[in-house]
Amino acid sequence: MPEGKLCNKQTVDTKELLSALLNDKSGKQYYEEMNHLDVDSKALWGLIQKSCKSRLRTWLEICAHCGMCADSCFYYLANNRDPRQVPSYKIQSTLGELIRRKGNVDNAFMQMCMDTAYSKCSCCTRCGLYCPFGIDMGIMFGYLRGLLFSQGFTPWEMKIGTGMHRIYRAQMDVTTEDWVETCEWMVEEYEDDWPKLTIPIDEKNADIMYTVNAREPKHYPDDLAEAAVLFHIAGEKWTVPSEGWEETSLAMFAGDWAACKMQVEHVYAAMDRLKPKRMVVTECGHAYRATVIEGPYWAGLKSGQPPVESIHYVEWVAEALRTGKLKIDPAKKIKEPVTYQDSCNYIRNAGLGDIAREIMSYIAEDFREMSPCREHNFCCGGGGGLNGIGRYRQQRNIGLQVKRDQILATGAKMVIAPCHNCWDAIRDMEEIYHIGIKWSFLKPLLLNMVIVPDDLKPKEE
Ligand code: SF4
Ligand code: SF4
Ligand code: SF4
Repeated sequence: MPEGKLCNKQTVDTKELLSALLNDKSGKQYYEEMNHLDVDSKALWGLIQKSCKSRLRTWLEICAHCGMCADSCFYYLANNRDPRQVPSYKIQSTLGELIRRKGNVDNAFMQMCMDTAYSKCSCCTRCGLYCPFGIDMGIMFGYLRGLLFSQGFTPWEMKIGTGMHRIYRAQMDVTTEDWVETCEWMVEEYEDDWPKLTIPIDEKNADIMYTVNAREPKHYPDDLAEAAVLFHIAGEKWTVPSEGWEETSLAMFAGDWAACKMQVEHVYAAMDRLKPKRMVVTECGHAYRATVIEGPYWAGLKSGQPPVESIHYVEWVAEALRTGKLKIDPAKKIKEPVTYQDSCNYIRNAGLGDIAREIMSYIAEDFREMSPCREHNFCCGGGGGLNGIGRYRQQRNIGLQVKRDQILATGAKMVIAPCHNCWDAIRDMEEIYHIGIKWSFLKPLLLNMVIVPDDLKPKEE
């Protein structure tokens, strides 16, 4: 059977196809069909010749097999230094072999590549810091995922995720109506406590266009309300777009390059339409990476920059605290020991380590660094889409042990994680390993300690 009904080389562009995938609980039929999926070697080799550029080819060729990258990978450490978890081995035995064989590989090889690309690499890019040649397996596995996607070898949840982006321009089935209604609903919920609170929609020429992770309107609408309250207290002139409000990209994790472009162009169109001075993205690492770092290239923007200046939420928070737009009540600073989960996507890949420490200096009395930290920090264990893939749950849980031990060594009771994926991974780690910690985004913490100007408080009855 060359092509399955659910598992095939086609992209998911209709609600019917998406619904069929969603109805296949845990992807049972999907993975069964994958066992029979043909590999179109000619098309695969054609794609490699067209898309595998000199940087990746050079990296594959110049690897000295020195093994210096081994200890940099948290999977290697978490799996008792299994030689099969050495970054260079993982990429040479998959992408390297695929190219050496000119795409002449079979179904079992492709499934091995998929299992390696998703369950042995979170694309955290840490190894690239430690290789003397800067060879970065995170970049290469991201590329390999794209080759696998073109042949239908993609985890079930990722195939659903790309379908969501293609159909809804969001990683979840949140329509424009759902989004606008959620904004209105949150204002209604919070306006008794915050008179004159608004979530302005489609305001032109605002100072800030705020964009989110679709999980917020879908599952955590209070996050949106908290963002609104903090902008309100800070006196910001801000807006959200009715279309182009979703920053994340499961398409990036899945290697669906066409959907990556569609998604990010939707956000850039909102910038072009509303002409804000700046865009602020919520507390999400991969959303920032997708829209601010990778997105301009997907969209073919020669500047390598989004159409307007775009910053991560932590940059806005640090600026608001520095300029006094947000003031912290010293009596309400966090007293218990607290640590910070440095996200690979905006700390390692965008250099925001100092910004995070600046925020800690305002809000935490006993801040403790993980070791290693900043750009050298280990992945939380759930990056690259791994948190959401049932097939690799066991491997993910083993990987979480490295983060568990890092947190335990700090003695902290609270982990601040301004990244959705990191937040999820740390929550799951606590549920599995019970080390007795709390975890939080910045917004609820800030709301508990910020000084509220009298004119923003509700009037006494
Ligand atoms: S450190 Fe670099 S050169 Fe050495 S094995 Fe790893 S990827 Fe290859
Ligand atoms: S990118 Fe991260 S997870 Fe992947 S091989 Fe390198 S260190 Fe390991
Ligand atoms: S989930 Fe967080 S720590 Fe893990 S790879 Fe993504 S940004 Fe890095």
